[in-house]
Amino acid sequence: MEHPENDAQYAGLTVNKGIAQPPIVNPYLKRKPRRRQLTASEYVDGILKGNITVLGQAVTLVESTNPDHYALAQEVIEKCLPHAGRSVRIGITGVPGAGKSTSIDAFGLHVLKDGGKLAVLAIDPSSERSNGSILGDKTRMEKLSVHPDAFIRPSPSAGSLGGVARKTRETIVLCEAAGFDKIFVETVVVGQSETAVHSMVDFFLLIQLAGTGDELQGIKRGIMEMADGIVINKADGDNIDRARLAQAQFRNALHLFPLPPSGWTPEVLTYSGYYEIGIPEVWDMIYRYFDFVKRNGFFEEKRRQQEKYWMYETINEHLKAHFYNNPVIEEMLAAKQKLVLEAKQSSFMAAADVLRYYFDEK
Ligand code: GDP
Repeated sequence: MEHPENDAQYAGLTVNKGIAQPPIVNPYLKRKPRRRQLTASEYVDGILKGNITVLGQAVTLVESTNPDHYALAQEVIEKCLPHAGRSVRIGITGVPGAGKSTSIDAFGLHVLKDGGKLAVLAIDPSSERSNGSILGDKTRMEKLSVHPDAFIRPSPSAGSLGGVARKTRETIVLCEAAGFDKIFVETVVVGQSETAVHSMVDFFLLIQLAGTGDELQGIKRGIMEMADGIVINKADGDNIDRARLAQAQFRNALHLFPLPPSGWTPEVLTYSGYYEIGIPEVWDMIYRYFDFVKRNGFFEEKRRQQEKYWMYETINEHLKAHFYNNPVIEEMLAAKQKLVLEAKQSSFMAAADVLRYYFDEK
């Protein structure tokens, strides 16, 4: 029987000509061009027009640790300065769980009812360690985060408290130039962060809770002295009486302090951020404070003092960075540290050696 396989031409297994390997990268897919770095004037134009995207980019620039970005950021800030300053800056502090984010959400909506724009910034020196900011996170302020007139920015994360605070202060300038007339600076009571916030705000609000024991235990006297207003949160439900008691205790304690330089006697109020009880009263107090200090000149005086403070802070920060970032100094310090730890050289001698090298270099 004739079988096709006997045919010399038989090709039972044929290999079709393949198709060309398609390129791995789709040629129709245009590469997204990298965002061009804006110039200082472009940043400033965008900010002055109130463009939130540009504002956000400028804040990122301020927060950057890249030295080129630093110079550009300083130029942008310098150009924004003449347009800044027309706002009320309010520091809001309290221990974790005091209800800062809940309250800021409620306070923010309250102050925006009368128009204007609100920026919520944060100083959280712990964010570097915890690898992420615990403050100022958009998700913590549900209503404000979707409000068209609110700009929420978490804490800058890199660096020392001084560095983080400086960046926040520079961000205030940018926000004000962008037309934000209300600035909240949130911080948690840790280390010295409340002092840093105090040095950049006009009103310092301390959020407290009614506790069970002695309310004033564990509150640093310094914080009480800094506060222009103390508000006891969670005055709702079963907690109302305890909140009132705490209010009386705080009022008594404040009597023991001398009158602050503003001439304003700090007030103590109770409210509930969550149930939105007593919020207009809190803001009434804050606006009364502004009337008071604008009339007696303290508002301007305090801002000038803060400028002076920041001049020195900036110098200190730069001197330190210049010293510690010097590679030779870094090596010397490592060696000296070892000697000191092994008790082979005294700390004073070791410091003197390093400093002598540093100053002779100049
Ligand atoms: P933060 O850590 O200071 O920002 O505090 P949060 O705003 O996250 O609040 C901590 C907890 O307290 C949350 O579970 C809130 O729901 C609750 N809380 C905040 N404000 C109030 C309030 O006014 N009343 C009551 N009962 N609970 C509140």
